[in-house]
Amino acid sequence: MLNGTTAEVKERSALRINPAKTCQPIGAMYAALGVHGCMPHSHGSQGCCSYHRSQLTRHFKEPVIATSSSFTEGSSVFGGMANFTQAIQNIFGIYNPEIVAAHTTCLSEVIGDDMSMMIKKSREEGKIPEGKEVVYANTPSFVGSNITGFSNMVVAFVKQLAQKSDVPSTRINLIPGYCDAADVREIKRIAAIMGVEIITLPDVTDVLDLPQTGIYEMYPKGGTRVADIRAMGDSTATIALGKWASHAASNKLEDLCSVPAYNLELPIGIAATDEYVDALRQAGSSDVPRSLVEERGRLLDTLSDMSQYIYKKRVALAGDDPDHIISMTRFLVEMDMVPAYVITGGLGNDFEKRVREILKDQAPNAIVKAQGDLFELHQWMKQEPVDLLIGSTHAKYIARAENNLPFVRFGFPILDRIGHRYFPSVGYMGGIRMVEKITDALFDKRDRESAEEWVELVL
Ligand code: SF4
Repeated sequence: MLNGTTAEVKERSALRINPAKTCQPIGAMYAALGVHGCMPHSHGSQGCCSYHRSQLTRHFKEPVIATSSSFTEGSSVFGGMANFTQAIQNIFGIYNPEIVAAHTTCLSEVIGDDMSMMIKKSREEGKIPEGKEVVYANTPSFVGSNITGFSNMVVAFVKQLAQKSDVPSTRINLIPGYCDAADVREIKRIAAIMGVEIITLPDVTDVLDLPQTGIYEMYPKGGTRVADIRAMGDSTATIALGKWASHAASNKLEDLCSVPAYNLELPIGIAATDEYVDALRQAGSSDVPRSLVEERGRLLDTLSDMSQYIYKKRVALAGDDPDHIISMTRFLVEMDMVPAYVITGGLGNDFEKRVREILKDQAPNAIVKAQGDLFELHQWMKQEPVDLLIGSTHAKYIARAENNLPFVRFGFPILDRIGHRYFPSVGYMGGIRMVEKITDALFDKRDRESAEEWVELVL
C-alpha cells in the first residue's frame, strides 16, 4: 500500500499526510468514560460522535457509550442550544446517568455555542434533575489532538467539581494520563503495594477492561465516583503523570484548592518509574516495599540479558501522545538503543526540546518533530533505515512496505491486536513486557530471514 513512498522529502507547511494523532473529542470521551455513572455527550453532529465511539470501541474492544446533540443544518445556522437542552432532558430521562460530561466538536466551536450558558439554562428549565451534574469542556479539533481533549476534560472535572472543605484528607490524587486500562491498573497496583490511598481520575479500570459476565451494564462498577472528584480538593497532594495529558489538571487543583502538584513524566522504563515510586513515597509518607525493589531488579536483569541483541539498534518512534513518546524515548536510551526518528502528532516546542535533551548523548543527530506525520517519517526511514519501528496500528503499513520491518505496537490506537487491554507498558512489569515485545520483533525477523544453517535454537 505504501510501496510508492519516495525518499525525497519536499517542504510542506500546510499539509499533513497520515498525521500521528486524532481529534480532541476522542480524548474528552475517553476521560468521561473513566468517571462512574457518566454519560459522555458530544455537542455536534452524529457523524463526529459515531467516529469517536468507533475509534474507542475498536481500541478497547468494549462498547463505548455516548450521546449526541445530533446537529442538523438548522442547528449549524441558528446554534445548538435547542438540541442541547432537549438532549440533556432525554439523557437524564432515558439513561439516568449520575453525571453528563459534554464536549464540543469542530462545528459547535465554529458557530460559537456557549456551553456554560446552555447548561445554566438547562438547569433553570429543570432539565437537570436534583443531585445530578453536567460538566463541559471545549474541544475544538482544529487545534491540538486527542491528548489536548483528554487534558481539557480532566481539567473540567476538577475545575467544576473539586472542592476544599474543612476536613483534611490523607488521600493522594492520581491523574494517570491517556493510558490503557491495563496501565491504570498497574499504576494503581504500585500505589496499593506502597500502602498509599489514592483517588484516580479518570479511572477506566472496570469500565474499559470488563470481564464477560453475560450481563450488559451501561454504567459498570469502575470509574471515579463524583463524590471522590469533589473530595480531590482535600487531598494531601496530586501526582500527575504526563505533561500534555495530566499536568494542567494538577496545576488547576493547586490553584483552586492548594493541593501540591507532583508533576512527573509517564512511568515507562526504569528512571521514570523510579520517579513515580519516589513521588508516592514522599507524598504518601510511605516506604518502598521489598517486592517492588525485586520487580525493578527483574527488569534490570531482563535488560542485561537482552542487551547484546538490542545494543545500538536504530529505532523510529511515532505516536499521538507526546507523554508516551517522551517516556518511551527515555526507556529506549536506557536500553542502549538509538532513537533515530522521534515524532508526535501532538503540539509542542517543549516536546522537541525535551526529546533532544534525552537524546543529547546517545543520539544527538536524531530527527525529532512535533506535529509530525507518518508519511514524512517513512521518507526519512527510506533515506537511512532503522532496525525497529514503534507506533500505533497506523504505522504497520510502513513496516509492511519496508520488507516487514520489526514493528511493535504502542500507544493509541491499537486496532489489530489485543495485548494492550491486559498487559501494561508502564511500571517495572510494563518495562519487562516492552523489552519482550521489542526482542520478539527482532528475533522473529532473524528467524524468518536467516539461512537454514544459521537458524539458532538457543539465544
Ligand atoms: S475533526 Fe472535528 S469534524 Fe472531524 S470528527 Fe473530529 S470533531 Fe468531528
